[in-house]
Amino acid sequence: MLEKLFKLKENNTDVRTEVLAGITTFMTMAYILAVNPSILAAAGMDQGAVFTATALASFIGTLLMAFLANYPFALAPGMGLNAYFAYTVVLGMEYKWEVALTAVFVEGIIFIILSLTNVREAIFNAIPLNLKAAVSVGIGLFIAFIGLQNANIVISGATLVELFSVEGYNLANGTAASFNDVGITVMKPYAGGRLFDEQRSPFGVPLTPVQCIHYCLTRPAVASVLAGYDTPEHVEQAVAYETAGEAEKDYASVLARAPRHTFGQGECTYCGHCRPCPVHIDIAMVNKYYDLASMQAEVPASVRAHYEALEHHADECVGCRACESRCPFGVKIADRMAEAVRLFQLAPFFA
Ligand code: SF4
Ligand code: SF4
Repeated sequence: MLEKLFKLKENNTDVRTEVLAGITTFMTMAYILAVNPSILAAAGMDQGAVFTATALASFIGTLLMAFLANYPFALAPGMGLNAYFAYTVVLGMEYKWEVALTAVFVEGIIFIILSLTNVREAIFNAIPLNLKAAVSVGIGLFIAFIGLQNANIVISGATLVELFSVEGYNLANGTAASFNDVGITVMKPYAGGRLFDEQRSPFGVPLTPVQCIHYCLTRPAVASVLAGYDTPEHVEQAVAYETAGEAEKDYASVLARAPRHTFGQGECTYCGHCRPCPVHIDIAMVNKYYDLASMQAEVPASVRAHYEALEHHADECVGCRACESRCPFGVKIADRMAEAVRLFQLAPFFA
């Protein structure tokens, strides 16, 4: 039946070759299922819906290519245009994703007309072969570049290709203190010992001295920690930080599984795991100032001053929710940004 359907012998191939080629093609393209929703989520689209649409569009497109054209080509959403859509048109030019999607729809109609009138083929034939090859390589490099930026291996700078450095990190995160070579010393990293005790800890789970110290030392601009002690054993427990591995230092997964905590699920612990934000909001710091301010009857002047000194503010949030999937505490970050805008009422200052 397959022979009849796809004329395998005539095309100098067999079922085994085609099955192997199909699996290889799927493995090569499967990354699109993860990357496309993640890129379009940065534009504010629903990640789950985009995932489903990506899978369905690829499935239908590939079936049509097989049964109508009898070509062994798998079709899927193009990587490159989606990045242009999200980062340039939506985030850069500030069009809503619905408007940008309408432009894509119109583009599709124009493409159909060009195809039916053979203009598309004429344009395609007019492009020199070396330029066609260069476009594929360029798109590949562009996607790799976005990946390196998202992984913070290269960071924003004048050329957008600066390698990660502590100074660069602090600059990118607006951490004025360490940018000015000011180091912060944290006092009471164990909260007076409460954090070691399951009963007294606000989280309902004990943390180790190493985890408490690591939490403090991973805050922006924190250079040192002053840990209290009563006995030589306490000193040894603190010094153990120097030789501890990543698993021993990991406080986030312990807190994420905690049965209760003062912050509660949905409250920010300022851990910074939600980075990066496409519009460079320092989410942890905005949340921190929001929490500090919302505990008071009025926003304290010092908290407002710190908030206003941030390079990017909550009113710049585009509501993409890309950060929320990275938050181990289930914080509704986009909603929190909207609340911060209301609390600090910054909109009039930036209008
Ligand atoms: S803070 Fe706003 S703009 Fe930044 S990643 Fe989160 S939802 Fe998107
Ligand atoms: S929003 Fe979540 S991931 Fe981001 S700093 Fe707060 S707790 Fe951490």
